[in-house]
Amino acid sequence: MALIVQKYGGTSVGSIEKIGKVADKVCALARSGDQVVVAVSAMSGETNRLIALAHEMSSKPHTREMDVIISTGEQVTIALLTMALLDRGCEARSYTGTQIKMLTDSVHGKARIREVQCDAMREDLNAGRVVVVAGFQGVDEHGNITTLGRGGSDTTAVAIAAALKADECQIYTDVDGVYTTDPRIEPKARKLDRITFEEMLEMASLGSKVLQIRSVEFAGKYNVPLRVLSSFEEGSGTLIALENDDVEQALISGIAFNRDEAQLTMTGVPDQPGVASKILGPITQANIEIDMIVQNISADGCTDFTFTVHRNDYATALELLQQTAGELGAKSAIGDDKIAKISVVGVGMRSHAGIANIMFQTLADENINIRMISTSEIKISVVIDEKYLELGVRSLHQAFGLDNDGQLSRIA
Ligand code: ADP
Ligand code: ASP
Ligand code: MG
Repeated sequence: MALIVQKYGGTSVGSIEKIGKVADKVCALARSGDQVVVAVSAMSGETNRLIALAHEMSSKPHTREMDVIISTGEQVTIALLTMALLDRGCEARSYTGTQIKMLTDSVHGKARIREVQCDAMREDLNAGRVVVVAGFQGVDEHGNITTLGRGGSDTTAVAIAAALKADECQIYTDVDGVYTTDPRIEPKARKLDRITFEEMLEMASLGSKVLQIRSVEFAGKYNVPLRVLSSFEEGSGTLIALENDDVEQALISGIAFNRDEAQLTMTGVPDQPGVASKILGPITQANIEIDMIVQNISADGCTDFTFTVHRNDYATALELLQQTAGELGAKSAIGDDKIAKISVVGVGMRSHAGIANIMFQTLADENINIRMISTSEIKISVVIDEKYLELGVRSLHQAFGLDNDGQLSRIA
């Protein structure tokens, strides 16, 4: 007998018919003798609808009330799924985040899970019941409803799997696994049988939204075997697990991208100690997160300073930068929010030099200009014009031999 935690995303529970199909699958697993906990998302489009409704009511909805409204989508799904299970003769009970005591901090909209209480779940499981939990939501120490950030039901499932020491956490979605890149952008993308936690964390952090970043963090920290599978097709999906020495590592496992950032530059900055902190201080004080940073070598005592922020923070950051430019006597503060970041990710990079050069040459062959570069041990990211995003992803996908008919076109 195994203990399995399953999560079904928005598309998988997008209609009454689809919820019925999920119930069939869950019933079959429970009847085979396994213990099953199911975490579910809101029906597809529902969370967006609730967010839009809140913005119709108020230009700046209160964060506490926002969590109250956007957590309702999941409550509908748990009730519908549990009804379907009971109709099929499968004993089951639904729980909201508050009922299950999914304890989080109080940061509305992006709360972090602190503790998952297992007693009620264990009691149900031992009595042969399927436990159906609302994803994405928790409760803080004062009893306020919180939510875990977009895509947060993945994290609900992994946190429960970690707390119950489940044998596997299965994330059911509308693709049959993790691909070398988003198959919506590159139809030649290839499904990976296996990827390491470390690589998946980089992919998720750099824009591959197939799993919420925190769910991968959690799974890595507690070594929860995590599998991404399709709700609609049979298959073994993609296993996310620790690095395996027996398996020969691909050079590059995948390509991630995002359009969520904007670039800001201060030109003609007097090159003196302390300027970087003077430039970035007001930005961080405004709670704006900074991602990439580049500072030029100084020529004639002046330098240019460039960094990126989330696109939602662009207007505020540019305003702050313009003020600081005046105070520092810099030449100008300019920005661009039509940029995209493409990253190649792979643990194989550790033992293979020259990946960066292949990346840069491939983009050059397509006449794509690189604006910024950043590297870490297992990834290389570049910022380019947004309009070249698709072209960039596809040409890199081919160059690194990731196409499903793929040969390494550049690496012998
Ligand atoms: P769910 O509603 O089930 O949580 P999501 O939309 O959050 O589903 O995640 C699945 C989507 O992630 C896929 O439809 C796909 O477009 C996107 N995606 C992005 N990058 C990848 C990748 N590398 N592999 C697979 N899917 C990816
Ligand atoms: N319903 C939430 C969202 O749309 C959480 C999730 O689906 O994981 O972001
Ligand atoms: Mg998701």
